[in-house]
Amino acid sequence: MTSNLLIRNVRPMGGANVDILVENGRITRIEPELSALEAPVEDGGGRIIIPGLVEAHTHLDKSLIGMAWYRNEVGPRLMDKIENEREAKTRLGIDPTRQSRRQTLASVAHGTTHIRSHVDIDTVHGLAGVEGVMRTREELRDIVDIEIVAFPQSGMLIRPGTVELMGKALELGAEVVGGLDPAGIDRDPKGHLDAVFDLAQRFGRPVDVHLHEAGELGAFSLELIMERTRALGMQGRVAVSHAFCLGMPDADYVGRLIDELAELSIHILTTGPASRPSPPVAKLRAAGVVVGAGNDGIRDTWGPYGNGDMLERAMFVGLRNNFRRDDELEAALDVCTRGGAQVIALERYGLAPGCWGDVVLVEGETVADAVVSHRPRALVVKRGKVVARDGIMVTDLNLTA
Ligand SMILES: [Zn+2]
Repeated sequence: MTSNLLIRNVRPMGGANVDILVENGRITRIEPELSALEAPVEDGGGRIIIPGLVEAHTHLDKSLIGMAWYRNEVGPRLMDKIENEREAKTRLGIDPTRQSRRQTLASVAHGTTHIRSHVDIDTVHGLAGVEGVMRTREELRDIVDIEIVAFPQSGMLIRPGTVELMGKALELGAEVVGGLDPAGIDRDPKGHLDAVFDLAQRFGRPVDVHLHEAGELGAFSLELIMERTRALGMQGRVAVSHAFCLGMPDADYVGRLIDELAELSIHILTTGPASRPSPPVAKLRAAGVVVGAGNDGIRDTWGPYGNGDMLERAMFVGLRNNFRRDDELEAALDVCTRGGAQVIALERYGLAPGCWGDVVLVEGETVADAVVSHRPRALVVKRGKVVARDGIMVTDLNLTA
């Protein structure tokens, strides 16, 4: 569904005041002052207007938003968190439809117009997560776009049957092939990545691999990903999430990896994690690597943090990367908007005639001020339709289901 809307008196990316006309869901005119037109009018009050925020890495199927406080006593290893969660899904009754709906609505209220969500697939819960998130996607399709990554959270080769389930998820409606720590979890980096890229080839889909492996082990896995991307001609279709290995101190080694990522157009997705070495965002962007960002899991059994706000995430990316200058904070916002949009390969994204009318009004004197203060969004618009106001979803949305 698309709408018409005239948004008056707004400043694109903090620039000069303009009026923006959205017709049939698309931006058609951006001019200093548009005369009265046949469209509902919103007065932007001189606020900054940005394209919709892009949540490019999260897990909609397993947030605990709206459920009782979860007392976290999980062990320190990655596998502790994975096993704890698989069991907790049943014990706590984490319904992927309900929980993905809750998280999605929270994200939209914060100005997110596009989401890439990894969704767990394992031999215990099968495709329940994918089916749940697909229901939410259908129900909320007029207010947000959701892309699903088939994600083997419990490992793939160590749990026979998972690869077949991944294939079924891709047939069902997941768009992207996920992967996870080829060495650390499956303990068979070649086998794991061959299976991931084989699915990608068979179904003609892009790849997004969770790579938590640190230091040289992570770099080794990253090299195997680059090798396969090159051999299969998948340039521009592969993303690596987290990529903590790029935060290791060996600048020469990291520099060589970054140059090869740029050459192969492999994208990096980061959360700007406070607790881990992390990819150097400025260096990556300077080398020509597309960097997007995500909140990752929000209030789940892995950790208690998060609220789905990608403008706040831009601040975290800035903090983690020692961004202080205004141009650096503008880059952090670019990562959380245009960067994520490029990773997901969104078409008609941006603030220009021809682009979808997916826009957000943010509070602040400048873009840097908006990132740092990340006050509630004044207005969130999806394809010309107002979906949230002052940080709260509007109520007469006539949702699909
Ligand atoms: Zn994740």
